[in-house]
Amino acid sequence: MTKPTCYSTKAYSAASPSSPLGAAVIERRNPTPTDVQIKILYCGVCHSDLHFARNEWHFTQYPAVPGHEIVGKVTAVGPDVKKFKVGDTVGVGCLVDSCRTCPSCLEGLEQFCDSGMVGTYGGTEKYLGTPTLGGYSQSIVVTEDFVLRMPANLDLAAAAPLLCAGITTYSPLRRAKVGPGHKVGIVGLGGLGHMGVKFAKAFGAHVVLFTTSAGKIADGKRLGADEVVVSTDPAQMAGQAGTFDFILDAVSATHDINAYLNLLKRDGNLVLVGAPEKPVPVAAFALLMRRRSLSGSLIGGLPETQEMLDFCGKHNITSDIEMIRMDEINAAYERMLKSDVKYRFVIDMATLA
Ligand code: NAP
Ligand code: ZN
Ligand code: ZN
Repeated sequence: MTKPTCYSTKAYSAASPSSPLGAAVIERRNPTPTDVQIKILYCGVCHSDLHFARNEWHFTQYPAVPGHEIVGKVTAVGPDVKKFKVGDTVGVGCLVDSCRTCPSCLEGLEQFCDSGMVGTYGGTEKYLGTPTLGGYSQSIVVTEDFVLRMPANLDLAAAAPLLCAGITTYSPLRRAKVGPGHKVGIVGLGGLGHMGVKFAKAFGAHVVLFTTSAGKIADGKRLGADEVVVSTDPAQMAGQAGTFDFILDAVSATHDINAYLNLLKRDGNLVLVGAPEKPVPVAAFALLMRRRSLSGSLIGGLPETQEMLDFCGKHNITSDIEMIRMDEINAAYERMLKSDVKYRFVIDMATLA
């Protein structure tokens, strides 16, 4: 593989787990024949960005550039690119490449690639061998097979979080065939959780939101929850025992998942999408009783991500966002840690001038 030449672009990066993010200049490869170069207009702020910037998952290499909810305009395409042209509005999510030949890749489940998917950040750049750098930057170059078409009718900034928060909640709800007649719980009203509420409602389920923030009750209902349970109130929790078909747990910090396992019916399933730094203790009896199961889910592959975007276009689903300037990112991280996000920060990349 010949090493492509590079160009410089502005970005925001972290130099160490404890340093705030600040302005930087990074190198990207110039487009190879199958690459698409994208001017980034908006980038959503996922709690994974914070886990990654602060090395909470113990694999971050510095300087680190987070950001994997990317939308923008195509500025250049390689000569072999078939699906995109200059000026197209496109998206890039959590992965930018994979082996493309293993059974998972061939099934369109590239996030489970046997050789390891190439993450949009924290992966290894296939051509340069350097760590991949994410979307808190002015431009990115991605092979066309990992670029998504954005529905023309959606507000672009509000659609950016679909690229991670959207697909991460859509995929497990779809896999569980959530629909009319199902009672579905969503735990945590943050970026992922608020999309979980919207999708579970759109699929026709009876949706119960669990929140630790009593101040989010009205928003939970506005976003589509039929009921909102304040999970710190034992009486409210006890009232829901043994009644759920499916629960999606989107909490970013350590919490008691046994309290939620006990809310499942016989054969009910709790899927974890939240990725706290520390292990989560599981009480055996919470699973044994009623033959319950506990599983996980990781983002989604490229075909399902495009399916989700098209579904959102058809049903006019986007995130509820708060737009920030690039230099407000450190304050946004602090607010995210206090569960004070309504319900996704999105960076206006024009402010990184
Ligand atoms: P977020 O916007 O910060 O939302 C997390 C929510 O969890 C908060 O708003 C809060 O909701 C609740 N919460 C926070 N601390 C809590 C605590 N100590 N106890 C109970 N509840 C608490 O985060 P996000 O971007 O949605 O991401 C959520 C998690 O999913 C993160 O760990 C992230 O890394 C992970 N993630 C996983 C995938 C995947 O593929 N599996 C993809 C993306 C993100 P309330 O105020 O309503 O209680
Ligand atoms: Zn994410
Ligand atoms: Zn593969």
